[in-house]
Amino acid sequence: MEKVKAKKHLGQHFLKDENIASQIADSLVGQTDVLEIGPGMGVLTKYLSDKQNISSLKVVEIDSESVAYLQCNFPQLSSDLIEGDFLKMKLDTLFPNPYTIMGNFPYNISNQILFKVFENRDTITQVVGMFQKEVAERVVAQEGSKTYGILSVLLSAFYDREYLFTVGEEVFNPPPKVKSAVIRLVRNQVKELDCDQALFVKVVKTAFNQRRKMLRSALKPLGANLENIEQDLLTKRAEQLSTEQFIHITKLLSND
Ligand code: SAH
Repeated sequence: MEKVKAKKHLGQHFLKDENIASQIADSLVGQTDVLEIGPGMGVLTKYLSDKQNISSLKVVEIDSESVAYLQCNFPQLSSDLIEGDFLKMKLDTLFPNPYTIMGNFPYNISNQILFKVFENRDTITQVVGMFQKEVAERVVAQEGSKTYGILSVLLSAFYDREYLFTVGEEVFNPPPKVKSAVIRLVRNQVKELDCDQALFVKVVKTAFNQRRKMLRSALKPLGANLENIEQDLLTKRAEQLSTEQFIHITKLLSND
């Protein structure tokens, strides 16, 4: 069967380097079910299928041409090959048990994938895969760094984050314009935050919406009473606050 022609609007950059695919597969820790997002022509799928610590493997691919290629070359996937849009999947009904998300992800929807992971944190126990380097850096960033943002705070509340390795443009066909990086997120022990979780998300998003401003003005759109918050926190900017400090602020705001 002919190779799939890369489609830009689907973020298709196929891995050429089998070593990288094998390294991504080896970065998975523990025994787990896996859902691979965007298998394309299956370069990573091949290595995942061989892993003893993967109890069951499902893949979701939006591109019908790639799906046809996979049906032909990976007949053993059978009903575990799902044709569809990961972003539209009802994960809680399809995957009620704990599982890991893996992939050389479509970069055009990286942020949406990561927000969906955050929303499904009760069942997604691990994420291993490749994003554009800039997104990978944002996910693992600590407070005080330039790349620290909404996803750094939200994900760090529930996941231990690790930057594993950087990958150059040349290992893809076609090469993307940016460098890539492989990261791993492992679910921590926190079941629920010690604050109103919906408000926590709102506080973090609002604070970073105007990341250059001090919290005192950045948080104004919340329309909440900021009086109980310590002055030294109100004079800080969103990018200077740790996850714990955001939780602390959320608690003070819900006590109104
Ligand atoms: N894993 C393959 C392909 C990576 S390119 C490899 O390493 O070679 C990203 C893949 O994600 C493409 O196959 C693309 O069709 C698929 N994709 C893009 N958007 C998607 C979505 N919303 N849901 C599922 N798959 C998607």
